[in-house]
Amino acid sequence: MSEIKAAQDKKKCDDCYKYRDELLKNSPAVIYMSQQIEKLAQTHPKYRKQIDNIDKSLFNKNNIDNSSESNKSPIFIPSKHLICDICPDNTKLAGFHPDLGILICANQISSSNKFLLESSITHEMIHYYDNMRFKVDLNNLKHHACTEIRASMLSGECAMSFEFFRKFSTFKMFGGFKDCVRRRATLSVINNPNCKSQEIAEKVVDEVWNSCFGDTRPFDDVFFG
Ligand SMILES: [Zn+2]
Repeated sequence: MSEIKAAQDKKKCDDCYKYRDELLKNSPAVIYMSQQIEKLAQTHPKYRKQIDNIDKSLFNKNNIDNSSESNKSPIFIPSKHLICDICPDNTKLAGFHPDLGILICANQISSSNKFLLESSITHEMIHYYDNMRFKVDLNNLKHHACTEIRASMLSGECAMSFEFFRKFSTFKMFGGFKDCVRRRATLSVINNPNCKSQEIAEKVVDEVWNSCFGDTRPFDDVFFG
């Protein structure tokens, strides 16, 4: 890799971390999701045990550079679980890996799509949350479809105008919104290596639709404010 390319990539990552930190500080959706992930970690027996087993003094020492994180549990640490890097494929702004956490694709952020970053990160945080709750098995297409329906529904990515929708608490009944959630969830399932065709993806999304579109946790309702 040339030095120029390396310097450009470094700049992209630096910018990406700047955007991430702004959202962690200012975005109601991103802040709310980090709090809910934290809350789940504190109350879920599995994570509670993990937290108790960690030597807190060691944990605090390792995070000395970032004092705002030092008192929290080690379950969701943005510096470890919400990272920026250069992504090889250019289809997504962010991605989720059950073992690694959330990756933001620094090379995909441009001034024209910067505003999409908030919904993309929220989307991946819904996957993070679901994986903590259910241990999502992404080889199981029903699991995959369900978490994609919830992520598209709750992240705001299907809201055409947040201001407009804010006035209508029943807006998720609108056809346009439902179609968008369904389309995006189906597209994600098609990209699952275990999914053999578009028909199968559509069928699986249909099968889990009622239970997953009805599940807005940790939000009370679909609401973007
Ligand atoms: Zn997704």
